[in-house]
Amino acid sequence: MQNRYDEHEAATCAAQYPHIPEALARRVYTSRLIGSDPALVLHGGGNASVKCQVLTVVGEEIEAVFVKGSGADLAIMTPEGFCGLDLVPLRQLRSLESLDDAEMENQLGIHRLSTRSPDPSVEALVHAFLPHTFIDHTHADSILVLTHQKDGERLVGEALGPKVVVIPYTMPGFPLAKAAIAAYDANPEIDAIVVMDHGIFTFAEDSRTSYFRMIDFVSRAEAFIAARIKDEPRSHPQPSRQRPADPDGVLARCGPVIRGACSFCDSSARRRRFFVEARTSPALVEASLSPFAKTLCETGVLTPDHAIRTKSRMVFLDLLPEKDEDLKQVIVKKVQDFTAQYGQYFQDQARKRGFSGEILDPYPRLFLVVGLGLFALGFTPKAACINADIGEHAVRTKVQAMALGGYVPIREDHVFDMEYWPLQQKKLGKSGFALLQGQVALITGAAGAIGFGIARQLLNNGAVVVLTDIHQDRLENARSLLRAEFGDERIQSLTFDVTDYPSVEKAFQEICRRVGGIDLVVPNAGVAYVARLEDLDPAQLDRVVAVNLKGTFNVIKAAIPIFKRQGTGGNIVVISSKNVFDPGPAFGAYSASKAGAHQLSKIAAIELADIGVRVNMVNPDAVFGDEKVCSGLWELVGPERMKSRGLDPEGLKAYYCQRSLLKKEVLPEHVGNAVVFFASDQTPTTGATLPVDSGIPGAFPR
Ligand SMILES: [Zn+2]
Repeated sequence: MQNRYDEHEAATCAAQYPHIPEALARRVYTSRLIGSDPALVLHGGGNASVKCQVLTVVGEEIEAVFVKGSGADLAIMTPEGFCGLDLVPLRQLRSLESLDDAEMENQLGIHRLSTRSPDPSVEALVHAFLPHTFIDHTHADSILVLTHQKDGERLVGEALGPKVVVIPYTMPGFPLAKAAIAAYDANPEIDAIVVMDHGIFTFAEDSRTSYFRMIDFVSRAEAFIAARIKDEPRSHPQPSRQRPADPDGVLARCGPVIRGACSFCDSSARRRRFFVEARTSPALVEASLSPFAKTLCETGVLTPDHAIRTKSRMVFLDLLPEKDEDLKQVIVKKVQDFTAQYGQYFQDQARKRGFSGEILDPYPRLFLVVGLGLFALGFTPKAACINADIGEHAVRTKVQAMALGGYVPIREDHVFDMEYWPLQQKKLGKSGFALLQGQVALITGAAGAIGFGIARQLLNNGAVVVLTDIHQDRLENARSLLRAEFGDERIQSLTFDVTDYPSVEKAFQEICRRVGGIDLVVPNAGVAYVARLEDLDPAQLDRVVAVNLKGTFNVIKAAIPIFKRQGTGGNIVVISSKNVFDPGPAFGAYSASKAGAHQLSKIAAIELADIGVRVNMVNPDAVFGDEKVCSGLWELVGPERMKSRGLDPEGLKAYYCQRSLLKKEVLPEHVGNAVVFFASDQTPTTGATLPVDSGIPGAFPR
C-alpha cells in the first residue's frame, strides 16, 4: 500500500483553511488521502476524527471532537463535512451500561456545535471515547481478508504485531464504542484496534502518525497475505464454463434482461427501474469462470456496512442461452430464487428479534455472470457505480481469502442488524421521486433545437438522457450546455448515422452496455430540402427520405429487441411535423417523408401494443431555437421563408406567431413537455398525435 503523505501538500491544505483550528485542517488532508484509496474505503465508508479546543460564542474554551458526517465521502472531504461535537458530555456516556439508538442520536444531536453540520458518523462515540487526538478508521480489503479466515484473530495478530488488539465483531454505535474503549483500557500501549469482519482503527496524537499507522498496518497485512499465497496454484477455470464467443454482444443482451427481471412496482404503484453497470476486468472474468464462482456469490458481504447498498448475496449466472427467450427464462428464475431467499432471510431474522418494520425491496444488486464479469444495479447511475465498486472489491478480497485458506462469511444476524438499522439506512438519504426517475431516454438529432429542448425537459423530470446526433461538434455543444445545467451523471452521448441500420444497432447495444437498457426512444433527427416537385432532384429526395423515414424506421426497429428483453413496456415518441396534416408548396420531400414516418409510427403502435410499448407522435411547427442551439431545419428553410415574405428573423418569428390561433411562440421546451407527457404514462394512449403548434386549424389531427 502506497503512503501518499506529502508534508508540503499537508501544509498547503492547512493554509487553505486559515479560520479553522489547524488540527482540523490537517485532518481534512489525511482524510482525503484515506478516502482516495479504494483498497482502504469505498464511497462513504470509513471515518476519521480529530479532537481540539474551540471557543464558544461567549469565548469559553471547550474540548471538541470533529467526526466525519454520516455517509460523507472521505475522498472529497472539506471542513464542512465534519460534525463538531462537545466532547466532555459525550465522554460521560461511557459510564452507561447501554444506550438505545434513539437516545444516542439525541445525545449526538444536543451536543452538536452547529445545527448546520451534517449528522455525525454512526461510529462517533468510538471517536469520542478513545482518548487520541487523531483517529482513522477504514474497512481495508487486506484486513478483511485476514479477519474472514477460520483463525482470523490469530492471523491478524501474527500479521500486524503486538501493537494491535483484535476485538470480535460488535454492532456499531454504542456497543462498538464501549468495546473499543474497553480494549484500549486493557492495552493502553496499542496503536490500533481491529474489529473482526469490519475494519481497523488507528490513532495517534498527530495526523501524520495516525495516517502512517494505517498505511503501515494495512501494508503489513498485504505483505503477510502475499507471502502466504504466493506459492498457491492459480485457480483454473471450470472446464464446463467458458467465455461466450461474442462477449460484447452477450453483455448487451444481458443488461436489459437483468434490468427487466429486477424492475418492480413499489407500494405507491410506481414502476421502479434500475440502471445497470457492467464491469469486465480480467480478474472478474476469471473469478466468474472459476470453480468457486458460486461460493463467491453466496457468502455474503465483506462487512455488514455494504449490505444497505448491495444486499448480502450476489446472483451467480452460470448459463447464458443463445436465444433471448431462454436467457430471459434463466435470469427471471434466478431473480425469483433470490427474492424468495431474501424474503426468507427477512422473515427469519425479523421473527428472531421481534422486528416489526417493513421488508426492503428484495431485488439483487450484483450479478456475477459467467465469462462476462459483474453487473451492478442501482436506482441511479451513481448508485450502480458504487455497487459495482463494492462488488468488485468483494470478489477480489474473497478470491484472496480463499487462496489464503478459506473464506468464513459474516453471520446473517450481523448483516440484518446493519441492513435494517435506521441509522444506517439514513446514509442512503431520501431522494425525491421525479416523474421519469429510472428511465433511459434516447433522442436522435439531439444537437438541434428541438432535440435539445426535449433532452432538457427529460432531464428536468429525472430521466437519464442519451444524446445522439450525426454531427459530433454540435453534439458536444449540446452536451456541454446540458452538463452545465444538470451535471454529468445523467447524460450520455453517442454519434451515429440514423440512415445506417448496423450503426444504429451498434449504438443501441452500446447504451445497453453503459446503462442496461432503454425505456424511451425519441426519433427526432430530420432534414429538409426546399424545391417544387418539378425542380426536386431525385437524389435529394432519397437523402431526405433516408433520414426522415428510413431513419425513424431504423431507430424503432433497433429498439424493439431491447424492449422485448426488458419486458417492462416503454415509449416511442416520434417527432413528426405539422406538415403531415397541413403541407405547403416546395416542401414535398420533407412533408412526404414525415408523412411516411408518421404512418410507420401508427403501424408500430399497432404492432408493439402487445409488449406494452406505446408509440405516439408530436407535431411541432415553427420551432426556431436560439443562438446557443439553433434549429438545423430553420437554418435551411428560414432564409428562404424570410426572403419570400420580406422579413428579418424576429419578423419571421412574429409572423409564425400571428398566423396561429393562440398567437404563442412555440419553444423547443414545449415539444419536450409533450414528450414528457407521453413518456410518463399518464393516460393509456397509443397511436395518437399531439400538435405543439400554437393552434393551426389546417393541421388539426384527423
Ligand atoms: Zn466502519
